[in-house]
Order: sequence, then C-alpha cells, then structure tokens
Amino acid sequence: MINNQPSCTDINEPGLLHIDQAKNTILAAIPVVLDTQKIPIEQAKGRCLAEAIISPVQVPPHTNSAVDGYAIRSSDLAAKNASVRLKIQSTVLAGQFTTESCRSGYCIRIMTGAAMPKDLDTVIMQEHCQMTNNAIQIDDRHRKGQNVRQAGEDIQQGTSVLKKGKMLSPADIGLLASLGITEIKVRRKLRIAIASTGNEIYSIASVVPDGGLYDSNRYCLLAALDRPDIELINLGIIADKEAELLERFNEAASYADVIISTGGVSVGEADFTKAALQASGDITFWKVAIKPGRPIAFGKIKQSMFFGLPGNPVAVLITLYQFVLPALEKMLGITDKPIAPLIKARSLEAIRKKPGRTEVQRGIVTQTDTGELQVTTTGKQGSGILSSISMANCFIILRHDQDKVKIGDWVDVQLFSSLF
Ligand code: AMP
Ligand code: MG
Repeated sequence: MINNQPSCTDINEPGLLHIDQAKNTILAAIPVVLDTQKIPIEQAKGRCLAEAIISPVQVPPHTNSAVDGYAIRSSDLAAKNASVRLKIQSTVLAGQFTTESCRSGYCIRIMTGAAMPKDLDTVIMQEHCQMTNNAIQIDDRHRKGQNVRQAGEDIQQGTSVLKKGKMLSPADIGLLASLGITEIKVRRKLRIAIASTGNEIYSIASVVPDGGLYDSNRYCLLAALDRPDIELINLGIIADKEAELLERFNEAASYADVIISTGGVSVGEADFTKAALQASGDITFWKVAIKPGRPIAFGKIKQSMFFGLPGNPVAVLITLYQFVLPALEKMLGITDKPIAPLIKARSLEAIRKKPGRTEVQRGIVTQTDTGELQVTTTGKQGSGILSSISMANCFIILRHDQDKVKIGDWVDVQLFSSLF
C-alpha cells in the first residue's frame, strides 16, 4: 500500500496556514512607501492623498439663491391668512453681485446661484407668486430664510475637507476644484514588476509548440493592476532555470517596489523559483488553507517585496485579491477608500465544502423582483479554468469553518464591480 504525501486535495493537511494568518503576516511585514509628489488635480483621480486638505475658503463663497424667484425681507412676509404685494426693484443674475439696497415695499428678482442682495434673507420661488404690473403678490405659506443657501454652508473656511490617506474619487477632485486648489501632494506611484515563470509558457506573440501554452497570467495581472497609482514593469516570461530566475529577479529588485511572479511555487519537480528565491532573498513558502491558491511565496528580494503566486490562472486572481491588493494598498498609504463589502446572497445550488479551508468559488449574482440576491456557481471550478471567472460577476467566499452549502442557504459574495 502507498501512503499518500500531503497534497492540495487534502483538507486537513498539517501545516496549512489559515487565510487570516497569512494575510496578517503579509500586512505586518509590508512597509509604507512615504515618498510624495505634487501633481495637478486633473491627474489625481485614484491617487492617494499625502496631505490633509484644509479649506482655504468657504463654500459657497456668498449667500445665494437656491431657485429662480424673488428675494425679499422676511419682515415683509404675509401674516396668517393675509397676502402681500411687493414691487420689483431690479434683477440679479448668477455671477452678478449687487450692492444696492432694496427699498421698503420692494423685492429683487433673483436667479439660481446669484448672490443675495444685502438686507434680503428669503426667496419666493417664481412659481409660488403672482406677477402683476411689475409687482408680485405672495400668500402666507412662506418661511423666513427659505430657498437661500448660506455662505459656508457646505464648507467652512479652515475646516478639514479631505484626510491624508484618501484614495481620491471624482467627487474629491470636484471638491478640490471648488476650493480653488490646483495642485496636491500624493504618494508616488508604486513600481511593480510582473513576471511569468515556466518552460511551457509562451508569449501571445509567439507560435506555441506541442506541450506549451499561452501566458495568460501576465496579461491578467497587468490588466488587474492597471491603476493610476501603479507603474507597471513587464518582465516577460522567465524560464525555469535557477540562474536566469535569480538574475532577473535581482535586476528587478534594483528598481521595483514589488515583484509579482506566477508559477513555480508548488512542489513540482521543475519548480525552480523556490530554489532561486531561497538563494536570493528572505522568502517564505506557504501552503495556505485556501482553494484555489494554496501555494504562495512571500518575502523580500533586496528592498523589493516579493509575491510568488500560484501558476494556475484562477488562483492568480484569487490570491491577488486576497493577499496582494491589501498589501499594495498599505504600501501606497491608502487608509480610506470605498469598501468591497461581503454581501449575502441565497445559494440556488448545493455546494460541497468541508470546514478547514477557505474556498473562493466564482458565481453569478442575480436579483429577484423583490430585491433578494441569489447566486449560482459558474459550473466547473478548477483552478485552471479561467472561463469560470470570466463568466462570473462575483466571488462566493466560503469561510474557513463553513460546512457544505444547502440549496437556499445564505452565502457571502463579493461583487466584482466593487473589486475590479
Ligand atoms: P506551476 O505552479 O508552475 O506548477 O503551474 C501550475 C499550472 O499553471 C500549470 O498547469 C501551468 O502550466 C499553469 N501556468 C503557470 N503559469 C501560467 C501562465 N503564465 N499562464 C497560464 N498558465 C500558467
Ligand atoms: Mg511552473
């Protein structure tokens, strides 16, 4: 009888690292890159703000009308069950600023956004008054201060409007513009080098011989990390040769903050990355209790952080989102960004699962007429089946301790629209 060696088909293999332990160890070891640069706000979307923004002005700058109508003194408002007639003295348009005083018994016609004339504190919407002979008639349903936006009601001068560490959104850029800020300090871009390893892997530009296959991982990673705060360096394909791996990784480590390679981290006979990395840096090899994505390597080559992801294309994306992205965001200094929430969906199928490892399946979430989220898997879930992720719109995250899923059970899902 042959005794099986531990393998990725075992669940309760000794030495498997809990996913949270792997994540936390990575995060604890990751440095924050503190270098900053000044850039115009037009280029700041998706960058990490490296300074707190204190408003130099108040927004809006002037008390102004929220509607098209007539600016009046609140002391002229009609008493209960009465009405009032006010003559129209003049008109202010948006962009105009009048210093004239409004005479007693008069109002001033005002357009949306126009600064309020002094002494006037209330605006009657034009639809709510009767116009006769260059005068308006208003009834008793109006309140003091209505339809007026107060100077500084959005932002007071001197208040903090954006925190350091914020990943800047289009609204943030608009906010900066509304304050007249033209340039801001952001964290510099992270330089990330991407390599594929394997003698069987060929670039899409080449003719693939028998026994070979196209490199999908590198293109997938380059696309996934194509973000404003990252500068990508394409290292191409590195053969399974220890000397070549060593040379290429060491060279990349002289300019990249991070090196990400795929393949070569399992226990296959030709997995030379392991030997090369053990020789070149301070790198540990983990078997993480996650499916797919069990073998990963993590550590340092010179000053670069190194991630050795699995070779299987689905495992690449899953380990990227589980382990690498949170680490990159720490490096980038991002402490405030939109969350990618775990939400609950009802499983329309039974899913096999045993406690003891986290499983990340690919699913399709739909919403019923009553608003309930439902999810199905995309069928075959092998870690090499890239179409299972291409067809999906979410990850179904089956937690470490979770048991099998029955039809109708609630499961955790993470929508791609919040991730990619
Ligand atoms: P490895 O971890 O190097 O043993 O690779 C595991 C599996 O992933 C093998 O079937 C490889 O052929 C495949 N693989 C590795 N790298 C890539 C790549 N860049 N593109 C597509 N498949 C790959
Ligand atoms: Mg390989």
